[in-house]
Amino acid sequence: AQLDTLDLVVLAVLLVGTVAYFTKGTYWGVVEERFPTLYSNTNGSTAAGGKSRDILEKMDETGKNCVIFYGSQTGTAEDYASRLAKEGSQRFGLKTMVADLEEYDYENLDKFPDDKVAFFVLATYGEGEPTDNAVEFHQFITGEDVTFEGGASADEQPLSSLKYVTFGLGNNTYEHYNAMVRIIDESLTKLGAKRIGPAGMGDDGAGTMEEDFLAWKEEMWPALVQALGLEEREATYEPIFSVTEDSALSPEDEAVYLGEPTKTHLEGSPKGPYSAHNPFIARIAESRELFTVKDRNCLHLEVDLAGSNLSYETGDHVAVWPTNPGLEVDRFLCVFGLEEKRHSVIQIKGIDVTAKVPIPTPTTYDAAVRYYLEICGPVSRQFLSSLAPFAPDETAKAELVRLGNDKDYFHEKVSAQCFNVAQFLETLSSKPFSAVPFSFLIEGIHKLQPRYYSISSSSLVQKNKVSITAVVESVRLPGASHVVKGVTTNYLLALKQKQNGDPAPDPHGLTYSITGPRNKYDGIHVPVHIRHSNFKLPSDPSRPVIMVGPGTGAAPFRGFIQERAALAARGEKVGPTVLFFGCRKREEDFIYQDEWKVFGEQLGDSLKVITAFSRETDQKVYVQHRLREHASLVSYLLLQKANFYVCGDAARMARDVNAVLGQILADQRGLPAEKGEELVKQMRNNGTYQEDVW
Ligand code: FAD
Repeated sequence: AQLDTLDLVVLAVLLVGTVAYFTKGTYWGVVEERFPTLYSNTNGSTAAGGKSRDILEKMDETGKNCVIFYGSQTGTAEDYASRLAKEGSQRFGLKTMVADLEEYDYENLDKFPDDKVAFFVLATYGEGEPTDNAVEFHQFITGEDVTFEGGASADEQPLSSLKYVTFGLGNNTYEHYNAMVRIIDESLTKLGAKRIGPAGMGDDGAGTMEEDFLAWKEEMWPALVQALGLEEREATYEPIFSVTEDSALSPEDEAVYLGEPTKTHLEGSPKGPYSAHNPFIARIAESRELFTVKDRNCLHLEVDLAGSNLSYETGDHVAVWPTNPGLEVDRFLCVFGLEEKRHSVIQIKGIDVTAKVPIPTPTTYDAAVRYYLEICGPVSRQFLSSLAPFAPDETAKAELVRLGNDKDYFHEKVSAQCFNVAQFLETLSSKPFSAVPFSFLIEGIHKLQPRYYSISSSSLVQKNKVSITAVVESVRLPGASHVVKGVTTNYLLALKQKQNGDPAPDPHGLTYSITGPRNKYDGIHVPVHIRHSNFKLPSDPSRPVIMVGPGTGAAPFRGFIQERAALAARGEKVGPTVLFFGCRKREEDFIYQDEWKVFGEQLGDSLKVITAFSRETDQKVYVQHRLREHASLVSYLLLQKANFYVCGDAARMARDVNAVLGQILADQRGLPAEKGEELVKQMRNNGTYQEDVW
């Protein structure tokens, strides 16, 4: 009977929680995020070739019969859209254009001609949500009383002339796997539109996104050929951009982008508002290493926001805009035969009016490779195989063709070895791949992405300074011949070394242009922007919090604890504050252990740090085990309206913690296992279970 009562209390607490506290958990099912189109086309043509929001008019004007819409958050969906556009045009003679979903209206989709086709490449973001640029489209097409210009009601199948193709980018680690593509596909079908080929789904969680995309295309293209009566032809490369060397300009010329992120930065007068489109060049006020062991180190940085007008709240994220390491820049330029002319100024223009130039222009080869392109990332099979026609010799060419046709061989030779493009091509031939057009590289290589960090300070305590806690990536994956060195974290380590007196920092054998373009980052500055999140402390500090954050997953919890300690010092009543922290060894990588002691003095008994050291005993102990050991405490605090937070590794730890919490609730309350899982789901829905995972 007692357990039944407890159960009722839990349900009541959850219900009250629903009403009283409706903050959603941050849930970085960051399948992919949209990297904003940062750069306006400085050569004069507008980005989308005009301002019309009428897609049919735009297609008519530009002679297109195939539009590829994308809903993208970090740029992967946008890249896939570009690749489809290119392939459709080169292999099948389609007149393709790529379109950002937020740039058009959809009321006239009922007039979409049946000899044309629309593609929808859609990433799922957060908890099954549309990406920012797809919000309006999603609302419109799924709306209960969606109406079109022709006036037909939804029941009358207004979109019966619309042929469409669709692919989704998702992550099966999350509950709403590929929700966007499923929902849009269902809505379009309901409205009478005809899907061509299967609705594709790529899975970032399983690491198979690229292969899923390639496999989907193999089925989709033949279906499209049939539906539109297309003919396949010998694909020949046609550049999307014209890249011309401009001898009238020198790199010193003030019109030339040498790595500046935007025009105002180029002009030397960066202006806010600072955002994902326009970073603030922030001073690093302080930097140190939290631990350094043989193959790993962890950084703590204080980034000064003063003068930026940027603000943050405890639990938000800061994004760092990295610079590629000199070693890899040199390798890339050398492999593509660009080394000698690295400082030549290039002008980049879209050949087609609908083509957006993805990087600033005019620039130099060096700046493009150092600041604007993701040259160190993994290589795709399709990219390598499409390099074959430009190979410097027959052996390299044959190898590239074979890699394109044989995914197991590609896995063994390239992905399992963790090569980036230049590292791999270097193994193929000693001759440079000089025949590769630069446009091909801009089209095929992602734009360099900012990396996000969970801010590890409290905005209440240090309003203008955000702390970053980052582990430096230098990892040899099992079986790989090659060590992957994280771009941003090694850059940050170099900045830290420089700041602490090392005149020539070279973390893990890398060097960086620390002073930035035209020395604009001198005095240890780094470009950043802030992203607000929903990962938040309860507004009432007397409510208990349970935090699970192994490794750098402790980052936001340092901010949380710092904040609660400050509140306690002010005399506010602060509820129990429990952190489950895990690392390898107490003496090795137990970050912030001294700080927990200091905060403990302010918080008294209410702070409890429960540790799990995985390499101190024969049996590995993780935070999940400690949670289970403290089941009654966890259950008790949840009954006291505790918020439960998880931060860190999305794939394994966060999943396990979710499962263990379900079991704890079931065991402690004498409920069936499914009931425990159900309770965790309810906690997620009402914001008492929040995740900040990556
Ligand atoms: P990258 O160069 O991006 O490499 C990262 C990984 O990609 C490598 O380890 C490797 O597994 C893979 N990889 C890269 N290149 C290749 C290749 N050629 N072949 C095969 N694999 C390759 N991190 C923290 O340390 N602290 C935080 O507080 C934190 N908070 C985050 C919050 C959010 C919301 C998100 C999304 C992420 C967070 N991260 C955090 C992770 C962080 O954003 C970075 O991903 C991380 O620091 C690595 O960045 P990097 O540029 O150094 O490495």
